[in-house]
Amino acid sequence: MSKAIPEPVTRLIEAFSRLPGIGPKTASRLTYFLLRSPDDMSLELATALNNLKEKTTFCSVCGNITVDDPCAICDDTQRDRRTIAVVEEPLDVLAIERTGSYEGVFHVLHGTISPVNGIGPDDLRIRELIERVNEGEALEVIIATNPGLEGDATAMYIQRELADRGIKVTRLARGLPMGGDLEYVDAVTLSRALQGRSEL
Ligand code: ZN
Repeated sequence: MSKAIPEPVTRLIEAFSRLPGIGPKTASRLTYFLLRSPDDMSLELATALNNLKEKTTFCSVCGNITVDDPCAICDDTQRDRRTIAVVEEPLDVLAIERTGSYEGVFHVLHGTISPVNGIGPDDLRIRELIERVNEGEALEVIIATNPGLEGDATAMYIQRELADRGIKVTRLARGLPMGGDLEYVDAVTLSRALQGRSEL
């Protein structure tokens, strides 16, 4: 970047550019927007960014993002621990919670099996899921990974790992947009996919 631009400015532009969906142009626009805005806007953003990592952790039970460990869902005695929905990302937990029709608990994998990106089963929280099933009271594991190649491959892998353990392994009903993200599916469609889940 040009030497005419002060280092603090280029630094923020570069930091924004590393975020998903933000190219160099948007990164510059955001940076110059903050430069022109009142100080408290930058301060608020800085505090929020600081707190993001400092004040949150991953739930030791389900892997969801939380302030307290275990998270509010794992800690809720009203939730049905016999059903575990396995999702890729914390945002998928939110999507399923939004349907208002799921009473079980969750397990967040933090990704999918993706040989192209060098991500294998050991890079995900699959081992923890199996331990949870072995030790817990689960009767059904609903694999709610995103529809698509990687989500399906991950579902098949988990299904094989959980076979012969006397629990039901189900997958969300077909009909969700292929390659789509659960977080973008509307609550009614997702609720239907949950209800129409079928055994693997
Ligand atoms: Zn939890």
